[in-house]
Amino acid sequence: MKRILITETPNYIGGKVKVSGWVNVVRSHGKILFIDLRDGSGILQVVFLPQEADLYNLVKEVKPEWVVGIVGEVVKRPANMVNPKIPTGQIELVAKELKVLSKAETPPFAIDTDGYEINEEKRMQYRYLDLRRERMQRNLKMRHKVIQFMRDFLTKERFIEIETPILTKSTPEGARDFIVPSRLQPGTFFALPQSPQQYKQLLQVAGFERYFQIARCFRDEDPRADRQAEFTQLDLEMSFVDREDVMEINEKMLIEIVKRLFPTKQIQQIPFPKITHQEAMEKYGTDRPDLRSDLSNNNLLAFCWVTDFPFFEKGEGSGWTFTHNPFSAPKPEYMDDLLKQKNISKILTTQYDIVLNGAEIGGGSIRNHRPEALEAVFEIMGYKKDRIKKNFGHMLQAFKYGAPPHGGIAYGLERFLSVLLQEPNIREVIAFPKTGDSKDLMMDAPAEVDPKQLKELQIQLSAKAPGKFIKKAKIQKKK
Ligand code: ASP
Repeated sequence: MKRILITETPNYIGGKVKVSGWVNVVRSHGKILFIDLRDGSGILQVVFLPQEADLYNLVKEVKPEWVVGIVGEVVKRPANMVNPKIPTGQIELVAKELKVLSKAETPPFAIDTDGYEINEEKRMQYRYLDLRRERMQRNLKMRHKVIQFMRDFLTKERFIEIETPILTKSTPEGARDFIVPSRLQPGTFFALPQSPQQYKQLLQVAGFERYFQIARCFRDEDPRADRQAEFTQLDLEMSFVDREDVMEINEKMLIEIVKRLFPTKQIQQIPFPKITHQEAMEKYGTDRPDLRSDLSNNNLLAFCWVTDFPFFEKGEGSGWTFTHNPFSAPKPEYMDDLLKQKNISKILTTQYDIVLNGAEIGGGSIRNHRPEALEAVFEIMGYKKDRIKKNFGHMLQAFKYGAPPHGGIAYGLERFLSVLLQEPNIREVIAFPKTGDSKDLMMDAPAEVDPKQLKELQIQLSAKAPGKFIKKAKIQKKK
């Protein structure tokens, strides 16, 4: 018999069906035993009657989280037993056969709760169990839906999705790089991308006028609540656009996502308000203001654009550093100052951030597509000519072959989702997140590697590397 989904069972009233899934709970009501069976689609009440003696005795052994297959008859529930809260609430399955497909140990924590009450490290260690809970299932399903919606929306708008390398060269986005040693070129390293920034710009030079990607980004940052060492961006870039064009199409996408996928939410103001950085700082004391008029209304979404950021700020020591993205263009009226490298603190960038309920969910800019302007940015930051050539020579070179004016944006997908799903942090919308100190507790990563692997890479750990001590201690113990 072919297995059907639990949500399909109401279509089979009076018929015999087979369902499979996990035992959510076992309950008894007088002599009658019930299993609430859970599969990927929903929950179903299954009834076991004492008349079916063998089956009845078998079901007495069954424990929560066992995996079972059940054949039974779909019947209407008595009127007083109807549960209007679930799609299968009108019916129940009267069991005729039960097969245990897999037994389960008692889980280390409850999975029929929302899980906030459980120690998060435990949840991460047993993530495959934690993900069984309804809230996490909902979060990952909504994540899928949002991504799917973005893909469809952008495809209709003539964007194409292009994957860019994970093994690449450092992109300065203001964080530390993760680096990967090269075995074939010993002593050299790849960097994992902090974002696909340079590739997406090079794709504009290549003539892909509308690019997007659901892109994994890697930033070796110190722990912070809304950051993860790896996270996902919706990344996009467009040719022949100005700031308003990029903002317009993105605003359209955001509005449609909310309307189609989160219909109970209400967007406070359309078109989204636009605030300059200066105004935001003066009025709200932050560059990501929470503009909600009513903080008690969980369904209120206040988007706003923040624009006109200063391009540079004083970095460590006496030099300048970029506030957002070194590849950004200044606002047109400041181009002359940039090229002449004067009035640096006054130069405003074309950067636009998109803020939702006080969280910066995305940001982008129009780029410097003229090589001399990009070079000026690096010079202002104090980079010497040879360093500029070494780090960004490929960009400067590419821009010499006819670069279209272009600009784009990237969203921190998890931040956006955590606001929409009212989750307190981005880990709740990531299948396998890392801890604050960037550990994967389930896989036990990072971990030491086989000394042979290090040898192949011609890497020698310093005597001070703690990993080495752990290894020594283990070996000594064995002896
Ligand atoms: N690459 C930028 C970032 O990751 C976004 C952009 O300017 O498109 O923040």
